[in-house]
Amino acid sequence: MNAITNHLPTAELQALDVAHHMHPFSTQNDFNDTGARVITQAKGVTLTDSEGAQILDAMAGLWCVNIGYGREELADVAARQMRELPYYNTFFKTTHVPVIALSAKLAELAPGDLNHVFYAGSGSEANDTNMRLVRHYWSAKGKPSKTIFISRKNAYHGSTMAGASLGGMVPMHQQGSLPIPDVHHINQPNWWAEGGDMSPEEFGLQRAQELEEAILELGEDRVAAFIAEPIQGAGGVIVPPETYWPEIQRICDKYEILLIADEVICGFGRTGNWFGSQTVGIKPHIMSIAKGLSSGYAPIGGSIVCDEVAEVVAATEFNHGYTYSGHPVACAVALENLRIIEEENIIGHVRDDVAPYLKEKWEALADHPLVGEAKIVGMMGSIALTPNKETRAPFAADTGTVGYKCREHCFGNNLVMRHVGDRMIISPPLVMTRDEVDTLIERATRALDLTFEQIKAEDLYK
Ligand SMILES: *Cc1c(COP(=O)(O)O)cnc(C)c1O
Repeated sequence: MNAITNHLPTAELQALDVAHHMHPFSTQNDFNDTGARVITQAKGVTLTDSEGAQILDAMAGLWCVNIGYGREELADVAARQMRELPYYNTFFKTTHVPVIALSAKLAELAPGDLNHVFYAGSGSEANDTNMRLVRHYWSAKGKPSKTIFISRKNAYHGSTMAGASLGGMVPMHQQGSLPIPDVHHINQPNWWAEGGDMSPEEFGLQRAQELEEAILELGEDRVAAFIAEPIQGAGGVIVPPETYWPEIQRICDKYEILLIADEVICGFGRTGNWFGSQTVGIKPHIMSIAKGLSSGYAPIGGSIVCDEVAEVVAATEFNHGYTYSGHPVACAVALENLRIIEEENIIGHVRDDVAPYLKEKWEALADHPLVGEAKIVGMMGSIALTPNKETRAPFAADTGTVGYKCREHCFGNNLVMRHVGDRMIISPPLVMTRDEVDTLIERATRALDLTFEQIKAEDLYK
């Protein structure tokens, strides 16, 4: 691949960037001096920056580039679709071929009677749709008082008003008067941080039963739905104890509330099945999708809805939709992405080959003096950094201080591994090879070693 050289020198790009580009989830002034890293190209699992550094992307962008970078087929399909029909809407009794084909394909891939798709431009928008759709559904069924969504602390459901409200991120709620009314958060099944003296099994059961307590307290006639990620992603790749999801399913079945699985990360092979719901054994009424749906090559999201909900809504006018709902280019790109995942058996590669290999190496990181637990499901994993594995103690510094240092050492060693507080997380492209796993583990280990040395020197390891 030829390097792109017809751009401005890095320093000039960086100066223009800080002058005119507002970065999401960043303290902009932190990089006024250093500038942001400019990524210019990518292929497979590897990014190239404007200085020519080759960086292993163990986050698949933002959890989304499932089939890896640089697949020409997606570029070809996008160009062809732009020439044929770059845009048309699906409001007012019109439709088009890519949206029909993608919807039929998603209905085939999604489990059970999840047969209907409402499109959005992103995962956040999909969850906005879910909030309006579910409330409208209950109202259309003659139960307009069922408006409350139960979600979880430290959940991530996006950054729009509804998405951030459904999410349980305190720093997000602190900005912009969130959450909006009628969103209730229960505790998360994060045993490492919150399990105390309980066994993971007891703890998982107890945290699931908080859903039942919340329903009884708020009133079954008030609760519309429970929403959760099968495995929390942005919250730190929190893998719930085995006892958690069966109990949640039991409670959702017992009371008349809808179960919404936010599959934005877990969907499309990430956990070794098409959907995370299949991996954790649940039967949602609605699934939110985005990210891996197009492997990030085009912005697209949506809600896959079960027969019953879709039928009730179909009898009414649902006053909701986005200009880019079912955008033809995005749909064509998503469809081609699904074709590649299916025909190249990428989920089989995850399940039977690369994920078991990665799991073995990843779990061995727990032997490092800085690492408490190492958790992984399919191609999403996390390690908890701690000064004391036995007591699961935090560091004698603000949460995230050590995680951030480790992330900087990762970047310094040409590895993108993120931190959430003092947990390090990965979510690499699903097409990763065993050799690339070895490189990932090598660089991660080096970053852990450097972090360990640094915090001992700074007297933070005690
Ligand atoms: C990323 C994410 C979202 C939001 O998707 P955007 O495309 O960023 O709006 C929603 N839910 C989950 C679980 C996510 O990881």
